This record gives sequence, C-alpha cells and structure tokens, in this order.
Amino acid sequence: MIVIMQTGSTRADIDAVLERLKEYDLQGHLTVGAERTVVAVVGATIPPTLREEMEHFRGVKGTVRITQPYKLVSREVRPEDTIVDVRGVKVGGGSVAVIAGPCSVESEEQIIETARVVREAGATMLRGGAFKPRSSPYTFRGLGELGLKLLAQAREETGLPIVTEVMTPGDVDLVARYADMLQIGARNMQNYQLLEEVGRTGMPVLLKRGLSATIEEWLLSAEYVIAQGNPNVILCERGIRTFETATRNTMDLNAVAVAKRRTHLPVIADPSHGTGKWYLVEPLALASIAAGADGVILEVHPDPDRAKSDGGQSLNPENFAALMPKIAAVAGAIGRGR
Ligand code: PEP
Ligand code: MN
Repeated sequence: MIVIMQTGSTRADIDAVLERLKEYDLQGHLTVGAERTVVAVVGATIPPTLREEMEHFRGVKGTVRITQPYKLVSREVRPEDTIVDVRGVKVGGGSVAVIAGPCSVESEEQIIETARVVREAGATMLRGGAFKPRSSPYTFRGLGELGLKLLAQAREETGLPIVTEVMTPGDVDLVARYADMLQIGARNMQNYQLLEEVGRTGMPVLLKRGLSATIEEWLLSAEYVIAQGNPNVILCERGIRTFETATRNTMDLNAVAVAKRRTHLPVIADPSHGTGKWYLVEPLALASIAAGADGVILEVHPDPDRAKSDGGQSLNPENFAALMPKIAAVAGAIGRGR
C-alpha cells in the first residue's frame, strides 16, 4: 500500500503515519519525489482496515494498493527515475554509463593498462572480478584480496570508480572496503542473505539477472536490497539460458524495456556475457542502448587471447575504442546523453 501525503503535509504528519505503522509491525519507507511524497507500506500482513484508517490521518491525501508483488522497486511507489551515484558517476535518469574492464583482475600490469585505455576511450567506470564464480573449480577463480588492492590502485591512477563482485555474505565487509559498487553475480541473484548483507552496506549494488530468473524474480531480489533501506540498486540484464546454442546466452532485450517500465531503478545491459562472443558485443551493446538501457557493462582485455577468463567475449582496446562513438551516436539518436 502507498500512503500519498498532501502537498502541504508536515514532518509531524509523516512521523505520525510512520509511528502508527510501527505499532502494526509494518515498515514505512518514505519516498520524497519531485511530484509527491509517499510512504510505501510493506510487511507480511497489512490489516484490511489500515487503508481507511490512514486516510483519516492529518496530511494524508489518499492511499493506493500496490498491485505488484515487489513494492519499493515499483514505479507505482516512485514514478520518476532513480539516479544512483557511484562515487560521483550518476547512473540512470537519461545518461548512458559505460562500465568496462576485464572479466578478472589478473595482474597489476593488466588492470592498470586496461583502466587507462578504457578511460582514454571514455568509459565512466572500471569493472574487474577479484572473486570469480566459475562453472569449473579447476579454472582461474580470481586473485581475491590482492585483486581488490589492484583495483583500488587502478582507481587511484585513473579516477574511475570500481565495481567488483562479492560472492558470499562473509566477504561483504572486505569487498566493501575497496569497491565503489558491489556486484551480485547472476548465480547469486537469489542468495537472499547476500542481498540483505549488501543492502545493509548502503552502497551501490549492481544486481545481475539470474540465468533462469523471471523479470519478476529479478525485481523481487532488488526488493530484498531496498527493504534494508538501501535504494542504490542498478539492475543488469546479462542474457538468459534458452534452447539456443549459437551464443553463450540469449540477450533478453525485452527484459530491459519491461524492467524500465516496471521499476524506477536504472537498468543496464551486459552484452559480453549475453552473447559470449566478442564480435557480437558491438551490435548488442548498441541494441541495448536503443532498447532503453541506462548503460552497458563490457569486458575489455588488453590481450583477449591470453585472458585467464572470458577472453572469447572480451573486446580488445581498439574494438572498445571504436565502439564508444557508436554508443554515443545511438544515445544521441534517442535523446540521451553520453
Ligand atoms: C562477470 O561479470 O564476470 C560475471 C561472472 O557475470 P555473471 O554473474 O553475469 O555471469
Ligand atoms: Mn566474465
């Protein structure tokens, strides 16, 4: 349920609403938007008489039932786009973010060189995995804390904010000490303890869609983070598993457009994992922007043939640099900045 406050309502009016909700063991999440101030009411059971009761409170304009199972992520609660600030880089609200970097941090030389070339080409953030979820236990699983230190060094040298994956609730404190945005990988989209733990940090969270997750399940996972009082969630479509074998995954651009309609959160796309092939990254990156994505996350490696993970889907610096003006052109064609 949403309690819509009158334009002239006071802080005391809002507090009275929040206080009453607390008495019912419900949570009230205050959203102050450009157009209206609302209190989104969430909890296991909302008493049937609550709507009427709330409508009698001073400063309350009315109430509306939230029809979707997810509440705080819904556009019903907040019609305008949320803009997530990642160390000064704003994602959502009309601009197009480009996050670029290797699948895994492999060495000082590799990450610093990548950071320099992607920044030079106009990337707004650096990605790189230090803790890697790999399908086989015998493949490279990341440098761990050393990888985080190298990312922090790359940030120091280039000024780019860094995004990196955290795989377990126990690692959240450690990764949060280095990262500017915490990535929740596709395989962990429904790790609810992890979602709550990153929610408690208050830091920006990049939430990838699970390999077989419906859009509704994906949005409900975002709800877990926001329910902890952390509204800084960016959704990422990264391809889903289908019957098709010609590509690693199937980029679901429907999901970008559907999510943009249903939620106020920024939505970005990952055509590297979505296609699995470097030569398909460009067309799908451009298509993602055209479909309304607030940005893309792209794997870039200085020498893809020698990458320790996902080399086949990584752009080399030249191809990345050639793609950037095309992203700007598509963004411009649909009235978005770059
Ligand atoms: C990654 O970004 O390198 C990654 C492992 O992505 P995903 O969780 O989408 O597979
Ligand atoms: Mn990867």
